[in-house]
Amino acid sequence: MARGIATCTCATCGKQFEKIVFRSKRSEADSWVAWAERNYDQCPDCWKAAQEAVAKAEAEKAGLPELTGSPKQIAWAERIRHRIWTDYTEYEDRCRQFAEQTGYDMEVFAAEVAKCREVFSRITSAKDYIVHQDDMLSKFLDTYMESK
Ligand SMILES: [Zn+2]
Repeated sequence: MARGIATCTCATCGKQFEKIVFRSKRSEADSWVAWAERNYDQCPDCWKAAQEAVAKAEAEKAGLPELTGSPKQIAWAERIRHRIWTDYTEYEDRCRQFAEQTGYDMEVFAAEVAKCREVFSRITSAKDYIVHQDDMLSKFLDTYMESK
């Protein structure tokens, strides 16, 4: 077992960071290190910041509300919400295609979509996203819908 440690430089903040890999042969570990040092140019902090910026921009575009909680909770919850929202909109697209193909009443479909999206607009607690990140789509949205 050979360990390779690549020392990479962040193109955004200039900070150095390490990437570690284990390979069966020394030559494989060394060639990975050379590759990694050429290709990894974003440190974990800048990667996280970039993810947060994307999540924030997407949330604004989708008209999702500001979240409440500590700054750390909000940043974490925004990344979770981004993932859930992406899954949800993909699911919505598949449902739309199915509805169109099967001759479903598209006005009824639009009303159902509006109802689902409205539920997202009512979830403002960062904690709710953090606690329910794994069952948000399967269970939690139903709870919110029923509570109306
Ligand atoms: Zn950086």
